[in-house]
Amino acid sequence: MPELPEVEVVKRSLISKTQNLIVKAVKINDGRLRYKIDKNKIKKIIGLKFKKITRRSKYLLFFLNKDFVMLVHLGMTGKFFFVDKKKTKYKTSFYYDINNNKDKKHDRIIFQLSNNQKLIYNDVRKFGFIKLIKGINIDQNSHLKYLGPEPLSAQFNIKYFKNYISGKDRNIKNILMDQKFISGLGNIYVNEILFFSGIKPEKEIKKLTDIEIKKIIKFSKKIISKAIRLGGSSIKDFSSSSGKKGSFQQYFSVYGKKGENCPKVKCVGKIKKIVIANRASFFCYKCQK
Ligand SMILES: [Zn+2]
Repeated sequence: MPELPEVEVVKRSLISKTQNLIVKAVKINDGRLRYKIDKNKIKKIIGLKFKKITRRSKYLLFFLNKDFVMLVHLGMTGKFFFVDKKKTKYKTSFYYDINNNKDKKHDRIIFQLSNNQKLIYNDVRKFGFIKLIKGINIDQNSHLKYLGPEPLSAQFNIKYFKNYISGKDRNIKNILMDQKFISGLGNIYVNEILFFSGIKPEKEIKKLTDIEIKKIIKFSKKIISKAIRLGGSSIKDFSSSSGKKGSFQQYFSVYGKKGENCPKVKCVGKIKKIVIANRASFFCYKCQK
């Protein structure tokens, strides 16, 4: 599943490829995504220009002229391909391979762009979505308005953290996965953040010290930045076809490492796996307190 770093990489690739291109036509092969595509509505994109692309949490926002925004979520298996005028196909992130002809049947929507170029939305499991909406008050859109601050933003700081957890009775794993508290942190990254912070996933938030909170904030920013830098990661859905791995997953310290020795040099612990709120949590029983 594409996480925040993977989506950020998609955004950066798309900015360089599609900036200022005009949508000439839209072909819908299969509009039955998480929300069924309204053919008449999506056709309004024809003639519009991609002016700017931003990301909020795991959503991509394509700003077009005439105050339209194409809001996209990649769901479990959504991916964009770009085809240039020489018909060279490019992927837009590291979490999948260039698809083979077999995968082509999952090309759901094709945007024909100016200069004989194409933007293809491919989605095997169809949990992603594409909506064309008006850009006015976009922050108040139902998908976006309850999202907490971005991990890399200045708003994600100790004051905000302490304020939010005050009086709450939850564990740290649970709160870091809560999109209202902080947006875009998925299971993999939360496991890694807690490992580097030396905090066990089921620790109650009311027992966290200021030093521990500072560590969680510091490592959230550090790990997300590193993952973006390394091109993002993903486990199953995208890497299996050719056996190639997304670059960040080679650097996981605890995620998926049940039974292995703790990677911290002076620690003799082993990695344990427990399930919290239906999600796998990997941690070292010795150095995560
Ligand atoms: Zn350890």
